[in-house]
Amino acid sequence: MTTMTTRAISQDTPAIAGGTPAKTTPFARAKRYGSEELEQLEEALDQQTLFYAQGTKVKALEAAFAQAVGAGFAVATSSGTSALHAALIALGISPGDEVITTPITDIGTLVPILYQNAVPVFADLDPHTYNLDPQSVAARVSPRTRAIVAVHLAGNACDLSALQTIADRHNLFLIEDCAQAHGCAYEGRPVGTTGQIGCFSFNEFKHIACGDGGVAVTRDPQLAHRLRLATDKGYDRSPDALVRQAQFLANNYRLTELQGAVALAQLPKLGAIVARRRAWCGQLSERLAGIAGLSLPRITPGCDPSWWFYLLRVIPDVLTDADAFAAGLRAEGLPASAHYIGKCIYEYPLFADHCAFARSDGAPPPAYASYPYHHGQCPTAESILNTGVQIAINEGYSQSDLDESVRAIDRLARWFQHK
Ligand SMILES: *Cc1c(COP(=O)(O)O)cnc(C)c1O
Repeated sequence: MTTMTTRAISQDTPAIAGGTPAKTTPFARAKRYGSEELEQLEEALDQQTLFYAQGTKVKALEAAFAQAVGAGFAVATSSGTSALHAALIALGISPGDEVITTPITDIGTLVPILYQNAVPVFADLDPHTYNLDPQSVAARVSPRTRAIVAVHLAGNACDLSALQTIADRHNLFLIEDCAQAHGCAYEGRPVGTTGQIGCFSFNEFKHIACGDGGVAVTRDPQLAHRLRLATDKGYDRSPDALVRQAQFLANNYRLTELQGAVALAQLPKLGAIVARRRAWCGQLSERLAGIAGLSLPRITPGCDPSWWFYLLRVIPDVLTDADAFAAGLRAEGLPASAHYIGKCIYEYPLFADHCAFARSDGAPPPAYASYPYHHGQCPTAESILNTGVQIAINEGYSQSDLDESVRAIDRLARWFQHK
């Protein structure tokens, strides 16, 4: 505190120490929905049906999405979470099966595993890409492991070739959670097509959106058929179905024509959205490179990222902790927050206390009840969250938004370096 009061206020003084905030004008934000969505919605209503099997919008969305990612087949769903659940159902993930995934993700990655009464097993992460560390994944394979759910966090691809090698060696399914990675490519191909099934979200906050919605893609026609049944209560609507009634347990995860219409209008906008985010975050990384005390996000080799948010790490010994740094950035007018999801998912009460269901008396315990979840399970993931500072990104951000953001981060880092 003494250095703070004795140093004169200058251009380099951060807002937390009495300087003028670096951000002088509000961040520019792109308009999310417009006349394209309205036109599609009007057409959807004019059909006089909002049911996917009778209308044209969900079907058109599925065809366009499959085409866009080069998958062959796409099945629309009510959310990203339901796309992932449909994927597990379609692949036959069953009670007691172990599914390896990451402890830093949206809870929507985990919920479907628990609903299958399968057992989530958490592997540790790369300290710079924040994605699954293939060595840790390999170490956590057991005779009960059936699948890997690879989450491409913040629009940066996992090391898919290493994960595919592990999956092949142990005969595991590879499912890609692409909810944060619309438009992200790995070795020249869109993510979602390396594993058996790729799952995307159209929730309100993702690259493209329709309020809530999702889609699962696959190259395998039989899996596509099972995905469809898995979103439609197991009911087989195909004209040549021999048995129409459910032959396995599945929920109603259908997308309505209204959401399909909006998502259909959003899809052509994705290319421009991703290009702008790529350019903005690419420049941010270039201009922040070399600032002592900051560890910048590293792009996976072979990946062309689509940047859902920007997560950097502070080196507390050089600067300060993530809370103080994020508070300093907010004082400058930047949309920053510390610790992303707060704690690793295995430390959430749902896991630490195995409290998936209300009652535990008499009923057989869920399969994951016998798996211990505890602090220290994935030390690198924990340190990523401890030191992580998340900066929200929007494709509408301008050049002056970039200049002011760099100035804010740079002068705050310098100030903490000398404190
Ligand atoms: C958003 C998200 C989900 C869940 O998607 P919803 O559409 O909200 O159900 C799953 N996984 C990841 C990584 C996500 O970011």
